[in-house]
Amino acid sequence: MVIKPKVRGFICTNAHPTGCAESVAQQIEYVKQQGDLGDGPKNVLVLGCSTGYGLASRITAAFGYGANTLGVCFEKAPSERKTGTAGWYNVAAFHDQAKSAGLYADTLNGDAFSSEMKDDVIAKIKEEMGKVDLVIYSLAAPRRTDPETGITYKSTLKPVGQAYTTKTYDTDKDKVHEVTLEPANDEEILNTIKVMGGEDWELWLDALADADVLAENCQTTAYTYIGKELTWPIYGQATIGKAKEDLDRAAAAIIGKHSNLLVDAHVSSLKALVTQASSAIPVMPLYISLIYQVMKEEGTHEGCIEQIYGLFTSCLYGDNPTLDEANRFRMDGKETNDATQAKIKALWDQVTQENFHELSDYAGYHHEFLKLFGFDIDGVDYDADVDPQVSW
Ligand code: NAD
Repeated sequence: MVIKPKVRGFICTNAHPTGCAESVAQQIEYVKQQGDLGDGPKNVLVLGCSTGYGLASRITAAFGYGANTLGVCFEKAPSERKTGTAGWYNVAAFHDQAKSAGLYADTLNGDAFSSEMKDDVIAKIKEEMGKVDLVIYSLAAPRRTDPETGITYKSTLKPVGQAYTTKTYDTDKDKVHEVTLEPANDEEILNTIKVMGGEDWELWLDALADADVLAENCQTTAYTYIGKELTWPIYGQATIGKAKEDLDRAAAAIIGKHSNLLVDAHVSSLKALVTQASSAIPVMPLYISLIYQVMKEEGTHEGCIEQIYGLFTSCLYGDNPTLDEANRFRMDGKETNDATQAKIKALWDQVTQENFHELSDYAGYHHEFLKLFGFDIDGVDYDADVDPQVSW
């Protein structure tokens, strides 16, 4: 089958196996080129391992430190007529490369929020890894079924307190326009915390500790985005920000509950990047197109792999991590410093339908968006007939 991108709104509904493999290979190459990273993790569990920041974490652990990795993701397998999801192909490519490098890698595909998945992961760790010394929590999901009650909660992306009117860019219609986002009600806020807050992270650590598969001095981190004034109304101080605040509570709870094993838990604040999760958030495509413009000019632009390589080497396994007042690892300074934010704000104020493509790096944003699905990558022949049926 010849596979061309099918973009619908903020999502691409198909993926290219060769392109995804190339994108994984590029990230592996980046890590390998950094040389010996010294002491690091040995047995790693990555929850949300197939795309974005979780995939970059797995690649850094495996190819930077030679770690065994067990991943969990929620991806669709290909069929005769439909391609698999990008994450499916990324996992297949990661497994191939890990196997060639003699590294243990296995992945379980299913709902990480369920108790069954926790049981399956624990069984696998016992059989094949012994104990884990690093747990990465990188899930981004629109809904979660509480394993205790069976109730399914949906997250919302809305401001909190009052309506918010701002500029946005509609990637589908190529239009900059004003949008008013109505505030969330209390139930929507609580539901978003249920989905994207720290409850499930805590449940994972509890289950792993109860089953005695956490190594002493194990580290765990969950990813957040904090941002600044421009994104606070729709992110930091919005429903998703409330959920992310709950991660801080969970980190402290995890440290407290598992002090016998000296478990260390941190929330890690990362920069805004194009991923499947962020492209669904209103305002983010506009904001990210502008920060790409500014940060590329400054020479500070980074993708998932550069951010995560930095997190591992300077925070998780570094001697001098940057911690903030809430005990979080901070990797977002190149984006959120005042000088860079002022430049973004100046562009934000000027941007209109007419000058959007001139002022922003939407071309860079769009390229990165297509790349998430294995498209628009140099060296990949998109006219070639490829077999979508890749297995792992
Ligand atoms: P992503 O969409 O690329 O990855 C999400 C991962 O979660 C995938 O591996 C997917 O398969 C998995 N997943 C989703 N639902 C699942 C389920 N029910 N069971 C098992 N796996 C499931 O997202 P991302 O942008 O890499 O986000 C990862 C984390 O990083 C999130 O917590 C996000 O808030 C945070 N973060 C993102 C940004 C950004 O700009 N993208 C910035 C800072 C922090």
